[in-house]
Amino acid sequence: MARKFDGNKLVIASHNKGKLVEIRDLLAAYVPDIVSAGDLGLSEPDETGTTFIANAELKALASALGSGLPALADDSGLAVNALNGDPGIYSARWAGPEKDFDYAMQRIEDLLKGKSDRTASFICALSLAWPDGHCETVEGIVHGSLIWPARGDNGFGYDPMFVADGMLESYGEIEPEWKHAISHRADAFKKLMDKVFK
Ligand code: IMP
Repeated sequence: MARKFDGNKLVIASHNKGKLVEIRDLLAAYVPDIVSAGDLGLSEPDETGTTFIANAELKALASALGSGLPALADDSGLAVNALNGDPGIYSARWAGPEKDFDYAMQRIEDLLKGKSDRTASFICALSLAWPDGHCETVEGIVHGSLIWPARGDNGFGYDPMFVADGMLESYGEIEPEWKHAISHRADAFKKLMDKVFK
């Protein structure tokens, strides 16, 4: 049996403003008081896990223990099948300190040269942790394939080179509202809502 969230205050363990707004909107109906780890002056732990789930849990736990409140964290990235799941948990790091995703996408394309399998998945682990150390964690996933050249200016990160199964346009080409409704993050949120918030 999953533990249910029955409080009225929750910490979002992210310092990313975009994510914060998106998560606040998604949870507004369930949690009256949502604060960010940044608002509480909590620092971000190093992402030392070797899986999306481990990283989401360590971030959620650090905020829950630091604040004494339940805390929610996510960890996401792109897993390319012909590259044994890379860049995976290193998706942000592959873009370097300048966060240059044109460079990161080119790096993937170079490694895919001569390979026929261009399938990839976006994955998002989402974890809710309590101050007693308990975590409820889920994983959302969207399967697709990689195109080259990358297309579209919408979205962020690897969006321009990813086409979800059953679609013709890349995540960089579709409307952001549409992507938010069908993304790996949306899938993870739906699973967590069903498990913990309903
Ligand atoms: P984190 O979850 O904030 O650690 O970010 C993981 C990294 O994965 C991001 O910096 C992006 O490079 C990549 N990523 C995660 N989700 C998406 C997405 O929806 N579109 C494009 N790239 C993504």
